[in-house]
Amino acid sequence: MSEEIQENAKEDILQTARRIIGLGPICDSCLGRQFAMLSTGLTNLERGRSIKTVLAMQAASSGDMQLLEELAPSFRSARLKLGRIGEEDARCIVCLGEMRPENLVAWAEKANVALQGREYSTILVGTRMSGLLAENEELLLADGGSRHAEPFKSELNREVGKRLSAKTAKEVDLKNPDVIVHLNLEKGEVELQIASLFIRGRYKKLIRGIPQTRWPCRECHGRGCPRCGGTGRMYQESVDELIRPAVMEAALAEDTVFHGAGREDIDARMLGTGRPFIVEAVRPRVRSIDLAELQKAINEETDGKVEILQLEKADIAMVERLKEAAFVKTYSALVALGSEISEEKLKLVLKELVGSIDQRTPTRVTHRRADKLRVRKVYSADLIEISGNSARINIRGDSGLYIKELISGDGGRTKPSLSEALNVDAVVVELDVMDVGGESDGTSSWNAKEDQR
Ligand SMILES: [Zn+2]
Ligand SMILES: [Zn+2]
Repeated sequence: MSEEIQENAKEDILQTARRIIGLGPICDSCLGRQFAMLSTGLTNLERGRSIKTVLAMQAASSGDMQLLEELAPSFRSARLKLGRIGEEDARCIVCLGEMRPENLVAWAEKANVALQGREYSTILVGTRMSGLLAENEELLLADGGSRHAEPFKSELNREVGKRLSAKTAKEVDLKNPDVIVHLNLEKGEVELQIASLFIRGRYKKLIRGIPQTRWPCRECHGRGCPRCGGTGRMYQESVDELIRPAVMEAALAEDTVFHGAGREDIDARMLGTGRPFIVEAVRPRVRSIDLAELQKAINEETDGKVEILQLEKADIAMVERLKEAAFVKTYSALVALGSEISEEKLKLVLKELVGSIDQRTPTRVTHRRADKLRVRKVYSADLIEISGNSARINIRGDSGLYIKELISGDGGRTKPSLSEALNVDAVVVELDVMDVGGESDGTSSWNAKEDQR
């Protein structure tokens, strides 16, 4: 049985190859690529050369002059048989010369030049096809009829990748390369896609009144207007912008993007163990950074406004986890009460707040968020100190729990609330975040599962 199938397959390949040769001059690579899926351990160039060799010998033995004539423009051995000496290969009608070995070397050299002055350890080559070559490839598949072809792009990526890897002594990485080199066939240019560099850590925000990230002006959306004094932003500083210059300088990056594990209110400090964050250096030239040095530089530059802890290398997958993680948080709230309350009563009432809380979207954010009822948990509510009408309370609760409303009741939109339970007004005067992600030392906060208590 297998002999019969092999016989058919062999016949099929040579018939298909002959049909393809009849379409016009085709280089060894483009011919071999039509049968790439049938064998391994060979380049398409070797496959194509082998097929042409067999066809030329068949033509010679059977006196098939037409086949020899068709082979001649792209096969030197056929030309010699026909006495056509000193004639060069004709241009391939499929790749238009793109697959010529010297052209592959030229692409690798172009990429190597573009990569100069940039630190990277892994690469991948990609191809941006031109319309003309894409059309040629389609026509070849339609008119040639091979069912075993490999895409043009795959071969070019692989062949240039091999040569570039040899030239630069850097590994090819199919999944997470530091650099993707795109060969733009339309423009004949190399375009570099540089993977961002990710650094994780925790930040403390030691002052009130600054947001976590850059905040474009509501009026002008960043262009600059009278309202923002031409700066284009609502706030002149942010945690993001305070740490940015040192990161830009260390990585020689073109920009940074700040990813926080949630965010505190602008008027809340972030104290205690700090909040997990990841800073992304965009198009970095340097990838091996002394993180202890960077941390020191950031903490010097932020001028006591922000403090960075525990800088470590991160990756893009951690950004996803950071965004998805539902962190348990501990807050410290300074609360003003409508009248004096005894310590015993306040302690008793705080115990009642532990458990499930029904919160409608707070009045203060309904203009930008849909009005929904959410159920969040309070894990603990402890009185730290009380003096007259003023009490400091530590609250540990689910991610997304609105603390100001838990205290005030927000006109009955949060139930239960401290105000309702005491039957007096209660307002948060100052709010600080003390911990994000539990008592962890920072490591477990990166695992979303562990934080979902
Ligand atoms: Zn070709
Ligand atoms: Zn503005």
